[in-house]
Amino acid sequence: MYKAYLVSTGTELLLGKTIDTNSVFLAERLSNMGIKVVGKSIVGDNHEHIHNAISLGINSADIIITTGGLGPTRDDLTKEVACEVLDCPMVEFEAEVNKLREYFHKRNRNMPEINLKQAMFPVDAKIITNNNGTAPGMYLNKFGKTLICLPGPPHEIMPMYIQEVEPLLQKDYGQNHRQSAVITINIFGLGESQVEEMLADIVEDPRGCSLALIAKEGEIQLRLTAEGESTAHSQSILNELVDRIKSVLGDKIYGYNEDTLPVVVANLLLQQKLTLAAAESCTGGLLAKMLTDMPGSSKYFWGGVVSYSNEAKTKILGINDKNIFQYGAVSEPVARDMAVQIRKIASSAIGVSITGIAGPEGGSKTKPVGTVYIGIDSQQGTQVKQLHFVGNREAIRTLSAKSALDWLRRLLLKNEV
Ligand code: AMP
Ligand code: MG
Repeated sequence: MYKAYLVSTGTELLLGKTIDTNSVFLAERLSNMGIKVVGKSIVGDNHEHIHNAISLGINSADIIITTGGLGPTRDDLTKEVACEVLDCPMVEFEAEVNKLREYFHKRNRNMPEINLKQAMFPVDAKIITNNNGTAPGMYLNKFGKTLICLPGPPHEIMPMYIQEVEPLLQKDYGQNHRQSAVITINIFGLGESQVEEMLADIVEDPRGCSLALIAKEGEIQLRLTAEGESTAHSQSILNELVDRIKSVLGDKIYGYNEDTLPVVVANLLLQQKLTLAAAESCTGGLLAKMLTDMPGSSKYFWGGVVSYSNEAKTKILGINDKNIFQYGAVSEPVARDMAVQIRKIASSAIGVSITGIAGPEGGSKTKPVGTVYIGIDSQQGTQVKQLHFVGNREAIRTLSAKSALDWLRRLLLKNEV
């Protein structure tokens, strides 16, 4: 796997005034291309510090990308220092001088001589055009390494990177060169340690693959990378491992790569031509938000009701208030009523309900904070599940909405709704 190292320069980045968003942007783009970012440095506008950071990059990676410090002033040093590290002199590029003169001419200003240094590059550098500022960037292949220098302002580097740098990287380091194969397996309903325990044999003997577990908002992502002798070889190693993992985790795997729970559920509803309506209490509409975040969701999502108060539950949903008094708003019978009523009101194929105690107050001995009931009503009957979550209010709400989606997903897969 090819490696990249990022260097963000600018004293403002060390003063807490500016957040280094450039390296975050670059890291994501590079990772998506299958290039591994092995490290990054943030350094001030200081010759020695920039020198050390770029040297470290050259010693540890194939690609070094710097951002910032391409301006015309004395503290803009990055390109000069980078060329010094690589020991390649710079010359004036006439075309770039003309572009600079034109830039100033258009603005009715004389070009200060100092700006000429923005037109200096190593002879064999490819110039990266900057349509939003004066500082061009450069892409230089030298001694088996690639050095890329880009300016600092995010609105300048983003188009430069996407339009010019990424295609060059794609050519030098992309698919055709890459021999590794990568997949992310998305898992819901298991904790990190449970996944690790269940996959103990595989973790111990991953047969040519590397595994990384990432826990995120109640979900687990398992990122697998295979390094074979060719792309096809890597892919076959990867497929074999995915099959082994599937046989252990089964339907706890809800999708791969970019799949999210709402997207997977939406696709199942579309395939089965089913519609859904939701009655939510403790999640305050979060389930509806997740589903409507996707354009075109009206095809399968009727809508929902946030029946937060008891009055909303009785007046809007028409729930029998006897059940609320007898069992409480967070109870099996109320979750059942909510699911049945919303389905009736919407005339949808499925009604789903969520009622729970998200905290921090409102818990009791029998129903502590984190107690949540999820109901699902369909022509095959009504089912209610009691769940217990641990975490703060936000975590409990997120887990509740995702658990409802995940349960629905598993029922849809088994044709049980
Ligand atoms: P420079 O190209 O070094 O003159 O940077 C110009 C401006 O770009 C700075 O004043 C910052 O506002 C912004 N900038 C520089 N580096 C970064 C970075 N790594 N992340 C986000 N903004 C940056
Ligand atoms: Mg700067």
